[in-house]
Amino acid sequence: MTLLCITTTRIPGIRPCTHRDQHIDSCDGWAYVWNAERSREEATGRECTGCLPREARVGLLCWGCWNRLEAAYAEWDRFAAVVEGIDRAVQGDNGGIRGSSAGHVNLAQTTLHLDACRSYLRTRAGTLESWVSTEPGARDAVQFTAAAQAAYRSLPIEMRPVKLRRVFCPSCRLASLVREPPAGFAQDEVVVCQTAGCGKRITDQRSVVTIAEIERRVG
Ligand SMILES: [Zn+2]
Ligand SMILES: [Zn+2]
Ligand SMILES: [Zn+2]
Repeated sequence: MTLLCITTTRIPGIRPCTHRDQHIDSCDGWAYVWNAERSREEATGRECTGCLPREARVGLLCWGCWNRLEAAYAEWDRFAAVVEGIDRAVQGDNGGIRGSSAGHVNLAQTTLHLDACRSYLRTRAGTLESWVSTEPGARDAVQFTAAAQAAYRSLPIEMRPVKLRRVFCPSCRLASLVREPPAGFAQDEVVVCQTAGCGKRITDQRSVVTIAEIERRVG
């Protein structure tokens, strides 16, 4: 028996993964959608563009779901850390982030998105592969992907450049480093020295932790 992508098991808010222009024998040419509230298939009035379910390739996920999960998961820790950093800044312990940068984000909404993502992550144990190898894990994984993608889209965090305190430039040894925001979540932060004639650039700042590493190297 071929295992199918978990999305074919009627997960709320998740479209089943199907092959385009390929149909199951019982397809009548029309597209239907599952109504979870009424617990029944409902006609959409649109033609079916493909209803043959996609096969599971990694655990219970098809290639598309697996690739989307990997991409969403790769950004997750950083996204959550940045949002939490802003949250802390608003609550007083500014952690080196200027309070004004928090004005760009709707924190209440942020918290809801983070909570949704975390609720799905709760079943994750071990590797992503082992997470998606069980049915409850695979269901949570595709819902995590959808929630994380929605969070990344709806919370375009515009961070301003942040002057780093208590950290010294490795070149000129002055407290003149400024962390510039990444262009997007796939990009790295850059720390740039503001001293005239120095302008040292430090890249590969995947997380705030590496700021502590600068401190260690300089100290
Ligand atoms: Zn069809
Ligand atoms: Zn899929
Ligand atoms: Zn410098």
